[in-house]
Amino acid sequence: MVLGGEQSYVFSPLLESFPFVSYRLSNIAMSTEEKPLTQADGTIEANYDEVAATFDQMNLKPTIVRGIFGLGFENPSAIQQRAILPIVSGRDVLAQAQSGTGKTATFSISALQRIDENEKKTQALIMAPTRELALQIQRVVVSLALHMDVTVHACIGGKSIEDDIKALRDGAQIVVGTPGRVYDVIERGIFKTKDVKMFIMDEADEMLSQGFKEQIYKVYQYLPETCQSVLLSATMPAEVLDVTTKFMRDPVRILVKKDELTLEGIKQFFVNVDADEYKLMVLIDLYDSISVTQAVIFCNTRKRVEMLTEELTSQDFTVSSIHSDMSQQDRDKIMAEFRTGSSRILICTDLLARGIDVQQVSLVINYDLPDNNENYIHRIGRSGRFGRKGVAINLLSSKDIVRMREIEMFYNTQIQELPADIGDLFNNE
Ligand code: ADP
Ligand code: MG
Repeated sequence: MVLGGEQSYVFSPLLESFPFVSYRLSNIAMSTEEKPLTQADGTIEANYDEVAATFDQMNLKPTIVRGIFGLGFENPSAIQQRAILPIVSGRDVLAQAQSGTGKTATFSISALQRIDENEKKTQALIMAPTRELALQIQRVVVSLALHMDVTVHACIGGKSIEDDIKALRDGAQIVVGTPGRVYDVIERGIFKTKDVKMFIMDEADEMLSQGFKEQIYKVYQYLPETCQSVLLSATMPAEVLDVTTKFMRDPVRILVKKDELTLEGIKQFFVNVDADEYKLMVLIDLYDSISVTQAVIFCNTRKRVEMLTEELTSQDFTVSSIHSDMSQQDRDKIMAEFRTGSSRILICTDLLARGIDVQQVSLVINYDLPDNNENYIHRIGRSGRFGRKGVAINLLSSKDIVRMREIEMFYNTQIQELPADIGDLFNNE
């Protein structure tokens, strides 16, 4: 994400190049079975691993390549090397790759390549689970399209529907939205879907989980028969994987797998605080060390977010917070402050667990452990973006220890006790 153009992009070890492998699309495996299989380690089973090692090898429109280089991307990441060409070819694609490895640009570049700039009609629909993520994606697409003539509209709840009416009437070529608002504008006939040729679901497993599934399904039914589906996520639990088959025809399945799903560059720690009421004290103890960096603190409920914010503020600590009960205007303001670095510690619910990309975040604190295994990985993945280093600290009361062990087992990883001297954990080169 580029805001203010101040960030630098680190060429990371996550980028691998495979100069000897060809990427001819005719080689895409046509699978005979339709159902993607989940493997024991919670990853999908891939049927495609062709690589285009550079952006130049992808035959993209020159204006897109300028947009890509303008963002400071030199080489495509592993998922970009594999997924962009099959998506551009029009195939349905299911892609799983770790947090922070560039899935946004994967589908954004592909969408920009596929749309016809001269057709002022909505041709691509990108869906995301939260407004903050939809806005972030919209900005990435706009940055990539800097040298193109493309309109990109964020269609999200909490904003004026008049803006949707105008943008859609003018034929916004790419729409990025959240399920409720998108369905609303489709149903009211404001969003005409007949020219949509790409349906992209970011955080696909979240989108197809109980909360959103029905709405997504209804939106999907309005899309043309020939519309392509592209589903992406870092996680894909088996029960959701089954649902993906309803949206895809003979999908290309791409998996960028590391040895473990936990993120290599993120060190994970725990502090056993015994009882919940001591968490605050421990957090305050950590404050001096953590305020040298940008940090996200996750609580499990809005109420806990509010309580923690009040406690810290009343003791003169500077923190900001966000959750879904706040007005969209306030949410936008809080996010803008956090993205520019003018606020450094953000307390939130799982609203921000997925997708949010603020490169300077190098610490995630779980004030509460998440109930859901997937969200553990998504939360800690807010740090360590694109191969940067990150630290995750889990504050545990005694009864949380069992839950932490479950998480360790699930991801076959180890969470260490936090060392006394944590100062140098945050020296992010
Ligand atoms: P994901 O969706 O996989 O979690 P994002 O798409 O949010 O990851 O990307 C994470 C970060 O990596 C962003 O800040 C983005 O700008 C950066 N990034 C993506 N692709 C590249 C690339 N090819 N080269 C350098 N940085 C990249
Ligand atoms: Mg993402």
